[in-house]
Amino acid sequence: MTPPPIPIRLLELAAEHAALQPALDEAMREVLEEAAFIQGLAVGQFAAELGAYLGGAHVVPCASGTDALTLALLSLNLPVGAEVIVPAFTYVATLEAAALLGLCPVLADVRPDTFNLDPAAVSAALTPRTGAIIAVHLFGQCADLEALGALAAAHGVALIEDNAQALGATFQFASGEVVHAGAVGAVGTTSFFPSKNLGALGDGGALLTRDLARAALLQQLANHGQSQKYHHQRIGLNSRLDTLQAALLRVKLRQLPANTAARQAVAARYDGALGDVPGLTIPARDARSSHVFHQYTVQVEGPGRRDALRDHLYQCGVPTAVYYPVPAHQQPAYAYLGYRAGQFPVAERLCETVLSLPLHPLLTADQVNYIGEAVGCFFDGRK
Ligand SMILES: *Cc1c(COP(=O)(O)O)cnc(C)c1O
Repeated sequence: MTPPPIPIRLLELAAEHAALQPALDEAMREVLEEAAFIQGLAVGQFAAELGAYLGGAHVVPCASGTDALTLALLSLNLPVGAEVIVPAFTYVATLEAAALLGLCPVLADVRPDTFNLDPAAVSAALTPRTGAIIAVHLFGQCADLEALGALAAAHGVALIEDNAQALGATFQFASGEVVHAGAVGAVGTTSFFPSKNLGALGDGGALLTRDLARAALLQQLANHGQSQKYHHQRIGLNSRLDTLQAALLRVKLRQLPANTAARQAVAARYDGALGDVPGLTIPARDARSSHVFHQYTVQVEGPGRRDALRDHLYQCGVPTAVYYPVPAHQQPAYAYLGYRAGQFPVAERLCETVLSLPLHPLLTADQVNYIGEAVGCFFDGRK
C-alpha cells in the first residue's frame, strides 16, 4: 500500500497542546505568579468544574489514578485480609492498590463482548469476606452498573468504579435514571495520566462521590489524614494534585466534550470501515452506556493472527497497541494469589486476540479510511 498521507501516531499530544498553547501558557504564568504550588486556587476550581461536568459529583483531586484507588479503599476501612473483587482483564493498578493495603484481590472474569466485569462471575466470587467490588469501565464504556450495583447492595459491600478510561461516559438504569460513570458507586476514581481522555502534563488523579461526608474523608486521607495542619485523625497519604497540573487541566477540561465527540466520530468511521470484515470483531456497544472511546479495540481470532495483523499494520505505517497482553493472574507479582492458567478463560483469550487501533481527537477521516483499507488488505489476502 502507498504510505499514509500524514504519519499516523497512537497519540498527538504535542499537536493537541499546540492548539491550546496561549491558554496553557497563561495558566502556567498565573500559577508561577500565585506561587502556591500545593493546594493553590486552581485545585479547588478544577475540582468544582469537573464536578459540574459530571452532573454535580464531589471531586477530590489527588496525585494519580493509582493513588485514587488506594484512597478509595482506605476510605472503606476494611479489615486486613478483606477480599476485593476485581476484573481479571484490567490495568494492574486496579489490583495493586488492594494488594498494597493488605487486602486480598479476588479475580472475576469479564464478558467477551464488552471486556467488562461479568456480573455472574462476580456473584460466584462473593464470600462473607468480600469488602468491595471494583468495576473498571474499560476502554471507555461502562461496566454493567445495574447488575453490579444490585449485587453490591444485596451483599452490603461497596462498589468502587475505576473510571480512569471512561471520564464523561453515562449509564442509563432500567428506571430511566442516567448517571455519570464514577458517580454511581460508593467511590469512583479517575486518572489524568497524559494519555487518558482528560490528560494532565504529568501525573494526576481524582476521586468522585455523591456523598459529601465521604468526600470530606477522602480529602483528609489524601492530605496525611489531617483535619487541620499538624492534627492527624487517620493514617493518610501525601497525594495531592499539583496546582500547576490543576491549572493546565482546567484548560484541557474545556476541550473534553469536543474531544469526546471527535473520538466517537473516529469510532463510528472505524465501525463503518471494519464492521463487515470477516475474522475481525469490532467493539460491542452496551445500549445502556455511552462510549467515550479511550480505545478502539478489535478482536482477531486464530492462533498468531492478531500479532500477524499487528505486524502488517506496522509495515503499512499504522502503529497499534495491545491492552493488555497478560491477564492479572498470570503476572509474576500476583502469582502469590495462587490462580492457575485456564481459570479465567475469557481474560486469557482476550489477551491473545485484542488489538487497539490508533484513536485520538485529531485523527482525520482520511487516516481512518487508510487504516480501514490496511486492515481490509490483511483479511482479504491482498497484502
Ligand atoms: C491508567 C489507569 C489507572 C492508573 O492511573 P495512573 O494515573 O497511571 O496511576 C488505573 N486503572 C486503569 C483502568 C487505568 O487505565
